[in-house]
Amino acid sequence: MSAPVIVGGGLAGLSLALSLSPHPVVVIARAMSSGKTSSELAQGGIASAVGPDDAVAFHAQDTLDAGAGLCDPATVRMITSEGPAVIEQLARWGVVFDRMSQGGLNLGLEGAHGRRRIAHANGDSTGASVMTAMVARVRATPSITVIEDAELQEIHMDDTGVCSVLFCQGRDDKAYTLSTRHVILTTGSSCALWRHATVPSLSWGHGLLIAAQAGARLRDLEFVQFHPTALDNGLDPMPLISEALRGEGARLINEKGESFVSELDPRDIVARAIWAQIQNEHAVYLDARVISDLPAHFPTILDSCLKSGLNPREDLIPVRPVAHYHMGGIATDAHGQTNVSGLFACGEAACTGLHGANRLASNSLLEAVVMGGRIADTLRDRSLHEGHVDPTPCDVDTCAYHESAEDVARVRALMTAHVGLRRSQTGLEQAIESLSLMKETSRHAQVGLMVAKAALARRESRGAHDRLDYPELDPQQAISSFVTLHAGDVVVNPEK
Ligand SMILES: Cc1cc2nc3c(=O)[nH]c(=O)nc-3n(C[C@H](O)[C@H](O)[C@H](O)COP(=O)(O)OP(=O)(O)OC[C@H]3O[C@@H](n4cnc5c(N)ncnc54)[C@H](O)[C@@H]3O)c2cc1C
Repeated sequence: MSAPVIVGGGLAGLSLALSLSPHPVVVIARAMSSGKTSSELAQGGIASAVGPDDAVAFHAQDTLDAGAGLCDPATVRMITSEGPAVIEQLARWGVVFDRMSQGGLNLGLEGAHGRRRIAHANGDSTGASVMTAMVARVRATPSITVIEDAELQEIHMDDTGVCSVLFCQGRDDKAYTLSTRHVILTTGSSCALWRHATVPSLSWGHGLLIAAQAGARLRDLEFVQFHPTALDNGLDPMPLISEALRGEGARLINEKGESFVSELDPRDIVARAIWAQIQNEHAVYLDARVISDLPAHFPTILDSCLKSGLNPREDLIPVRPVAHYHMGGIATDAHGQTNVSGLFACGEAACTGLHGANRLASNSLLEAVVMGGRIADTLRDRSLHEGHVDPTPCDVDTCAYHESAEDVARVRALMTAHVGLRRSQTGLEQAIESLSLMKETSRHAQVGLMVAKAALARRESRGAHDRLDYPELDPQQAISSFVTLHAGDVVVNPEK
């Protein structure tokens, strides 16, 4: 048997691997950098109650308020209380946080946070700075074996639970199996299922599908956070234009120069207002010309604009709402364990109950590191006799599978039109019918179908889930939804 196998090279996977050290571990990842992880793209930073006027209870309350009645309060308390320790741990791993002249952390303030509590590194390049430090540390840690340019395809089970993984590697997609009793999925977001997204295009929820096929329960899939303002430059992914710019005075206007929403309203309200403008064939812009210190505070945003031929000190920035963060994911307990023996999940691919119906900004990097540490604690106790790492070549059709670009584009268009910011029974049923017809040939369609069916089942509007036909929040529905696969069919809220 091999060491535990972590799938994914973002912050969740790498922090777990480092927490386990010196215990041997294998990381299978498409990549740990080169724009293939959301972790590298994070701009704002990491939330933690370390400010002099702050307390864990305040951070927990802001998280619960954002989650619109669907957070798991014990998980919220546990994860927010670990915030200060996470910042210290990341600093020990080599992350250099921005500090004030007296040495204390230079904490940022973000929407829906009642206090300054966002630790950042190199201004709005936090994710890139964190991942540079983490990748260097992982490469220098002999107990971590990294298998790169590799994609997990299947998890195999025997009578006692997980027994091996099947993955493809390299340009020629050679297939290998690796025996292990412990697999941790840290495969990131599903938001590339939508036509416009801030996440890398490979982040379409492959891990969720593999987990469901192995028997895992998925939770709260209908809750997807749409960020109101990405730079509408036609790129995939679209660069994020942080709301911090609006906090500094940038204004949202349409092509006539008309203002149509209060810039500091919550993310979902601003996103829907922009969406309504676009549906009515208006163009939407952010006017950031009033902000003088862009190079110092927003180097990443400035760089994205300049690369698109825009100078935000003179030009209006075209923006649109985009899929940004999936609150739902593989259901886990407070130790990252799924309902399948030996299968764990962590990071954005998991659903611990921290975010509920809407994520509080900058809580996801925190969650990734806290849960990585907790899974490491569990594995350290369990797998002391595992250490051998020896993938076996095999011959299977799975690695020959390549989804057509037309199918991917079709799924993304369907998800955007019918499972996006505003949903209705008619639109969701239309999406479900079309995705069902595609599911034999398209893995994207299989994941989209699970999300669409969960969205159809929730007949209320709550947090990021907005139903035109059920516009009110229904207190009777303040419970999580669950999705499982039975013989390939999607079952929502199965009997326990
Ligand atoms: C533009 C942007 C800005 C953000 N800003 C912030 C912020 O300021 N603060 C905050 O807290 N959060 C932020 N987020 C969210 C946060 O970045 C993510 O939730 C977090 O980084 C997820 O980390 P992860 O390790 O779970 O996933 P990722 O970092 O996405 O890593 C996933 C890994 O899994 C690999 N993978 C996927 N499928 C497979 C497969 N089948 N086989 C092998 N490998 C696979 C990928 O290649 C990748 O290596 C932001 C997100 C974006 C997109």
